[in-house]
Amino acid sequence: MARTRLVMKFGGTSVANLDRIRRVAKRVGREVGAGHDVIVVVSAMSGKTNELVGWVDEASGGQGFYDAREYDAVVSSGENVTAGLLALVLQENGIDARSWQGWQVPLKTTSAHGSARIEEIPTANLDAKFADGMRVAVVAGFQGISPEGRITTLGRGGSDTTAVAFAAAFDAVRCDIYTDVDGVYTTDPRITSKARKLDRIAFEEMLELASLGAKVLQTRSVELAMRYDVTLRVLSSFEEMGEGAGTLVCPEEDIVESNVVSGVAYSRDEAQMTLIGVQDRPGVSAAIFGPLAQAGVVVDMIVQNIAEDGRTDMTFSVPVAQVPLATKAMEGAKGSGDLEFAEIVADTEVAKVSVVGIGMRSHAGVAATMFAALRDFGVNIKVITTSEIKISVLIDRKFMELAVQALHDAFGLEKA
Ligand code: ADP
Ligand code: ASP
Ligand code: MG
Repeated sequence: MARTRLVMKFGGTSVANLDRIRRVAKRVGREVGAGHDVIVVVSAMSGKTNELVGWVDEASGGQGFYDAREYDAVVSSGENVTAGLLALVLQENGIDARSWQGWQVPLKTTSAHGSARIEEIPTANLDAKFADGMRVAVVAGFQGISPEGRITTLGRGGSDTTAVAFAAAFDAVRCDIYTDVDGVYTTDPRITSKARKLDRIAFEEMLELASLGAKVLQTRSVELAMRYDVTLRVLSSFEEMGEGAGTLVCPEEDIVESNVVSGVAYSRDEAQMTLIGVQDRPGVSAAIFGPLAQAGVVVDMIVQNIAEDGRTDMTFSVPVAQVPLATKAMEGAKGSGDLEFAEIVADTEVAKVSVVGIGMRSHAGVAATMFAALRDFGVNIKVITTSEIKISVLIDRKFMELAVQALHDAFGLEKA
């Protein structure tokens, strides 16, 4: 009988030391025994990538400006270690396994260093090895190769995306994401013990939760799974479990019943920037957000105040690490004469909290419930944005946990 392909991905805590790598090898061995040819995607050991990022920053002056090609050369290396170690342990267990770095596959990406997108994964190299008897390909997650032949990385948390992309390219029966929680919860279980594990979550909801900060899956991985119809499961690498364990990320139609709000997400590392006294005239937004985009600043929320005497304030949020870059871009635009403003202020102590649910499309009153819950706890809202299935607010970071818990209670997420 033809062997089927399975993708298994193990995150940082699941491969944090050799003992854990041995546990991973056992799990992989069971799937090989069950008749699968397995592509295992591994992350770096937990904490490793942060350490590498820290070194890059230190080596390049500590201001967050560095050569992105060298950032990728350094930061991608953590995955090489875990891929090699897992291949060795699998071989010790008598399994024909080989490690593969991104460039060897090759996993081809764009040249957007630090947040490259996957363009193509030719299957010929791995297919030939599987045909030759290889049972497990251990792939270093998070990394690829640019058209120029340089190593790229896919953005933080990118191993999830590597895994889903392999599942799509190799037509795997499933993509199992093993992590340190046993599935996707109504909110981060580290913030409230009332968080409830979901058996199923719709792609659209998972996409919103991920992009609003729930780091259990990288946003891009959910996008790819949705586009290529990959069966995506999130499950614990620490618990033994049977069929139906974990959370299945699936099309909306496959969910029988759901709450109006299905989850609460947060993003801690936000900053609010305000340009005070910009001209109130056509083209001023383009004069602000054009240069920001060109500098690679990821702007999220935007509000413009009411104008007075031909001047107004423009407020927007950016990731806290990009404040120096955004400030430089704005000062550059001012210097070139396209933009006038009196002052630029940055509040780096803010966080974004969001509620998500496809039920919002057909239910009124979600915003009212959300704002009342925040009011009851004395949380001031700085900026609001909405889409069809989410509402986000920017608040003082010191209230973040409180706000998540209050909203989880207000929408009754503890109960199914
Ligand atoms: P890995 O290293 O396995 O990729 P991550 O740390 O990237 O793991 O993602 C798992 C973490 O995501 C969990 O430990 C949890 O704290 C966090 N998380 C945030 N929101 C959620 C959520 N809604 N459901 C489950 N986990 C969540
Ligand atoms: N090691 C990388 C990171 O920490 C990629 C990943 O874990 O998915 O971001
Ligand atoms: Mg992750």
